[in-house]
Amino acid sequence: MEPFPRRRILGRLRLTVLVCLLLSVPFLWQARAPIVAPVVWILGTGYFLGLFLPRYLRRRRLARIPLSDADREILERRVSFYAALSDADRAEYGTDVAIFLAEHRIEGVDGVEVTREVRLLVAASAVRLVFRRPDWEYGDFGTILIYPGGFRTDGTYSTDIAGESDPAIGLVHSGGNVILSLPHLQSAFRTGNDGLNVGYHEFAHVLDGTGPDGIPDALDLGAYRPWVEVMQREFEKVHKGRSLLRSYAGTDPAEFFACAVEAFFEQPDKVREKAPDLYAQLSRFFNQRP
Ligand SMILES: [Zn+2]
Repeated sequence: MEPFPRRRILGRLRLTVLVCLLLSVPFLWQARAPIVAPVVWILGTGYFLGLFLPRYLRRRRLARIPLSDADREILERRVSFYAALSDADRAEYGTDVAIFLAEHRIEGVDGVEVTREVRLLVAASAVRLVFRRPDWEYGDFGTILIYPGGFRTDGTYSTDIAGESDPAIGLVHSGGNVILSLPHLQSAFRTGNDGLNVGYHEFAHVLDGTGPDGIPDALDLGAYRPWVEVMQREFEKVHKGRSLLRSYAGTDPAEFFACAVEAFFEQPDKVREKAPDLYAQLSRFFNQRP
């Protein structure tokens, strides 16, 4: 996430001017020109200055002092990845975390108190995936709902899981909201190398895109074919019980991608050793070598 992406801002400015020209020029030779042309340009200016630009001006303000001392202390204590970063990378990561928190709603469900620590853990999960891709944006995907534990997957999303044999601990709803179970989010950062991290898993689903198919929207065109080949090979291995990924990865390609992302960030040595092609593809995609 770039705080102030000049190229993107200039590109949107050019596009806005072009649209205003296209909409207003045809009216210049008509009697309605004195009304239509000013209205088009007022709407265009309002869109750019009122809707598009403020987001980046706020980011630029945030980037000056992204996190407080208390925030940094929480991240150092709870997020081992952050604690191991260089000072420059910490500053960049902190800026991404602050931007993420400013641009996404996080709400507690069934009495869950969303403390600053909970918010930081959510943002730390999401930012970990996009940290080395400044050109990537999460976009507006909905509200992040923090649940007190597992929940039903019968469409009610109820936290009354009595009789439920395999409650969910996280989910990305087709409407955009992300659900995370608080105890599972917390334990993901307590045990950082067991291949399980509900935060990485669900935000990987968000990156997968609106039509989740295990092929993330941001995948370069040239990387499409190698990724699909590696995914299919490893997917078959999961089904034969010969993959390092857990069996849940064999549910469908979307779950394969999410489970592979978890393993890549949580157990990179194991992935590199047992599935070097998978490691290479994910490393290229995220521009990281964990
Ligand atoms: Zn999943």
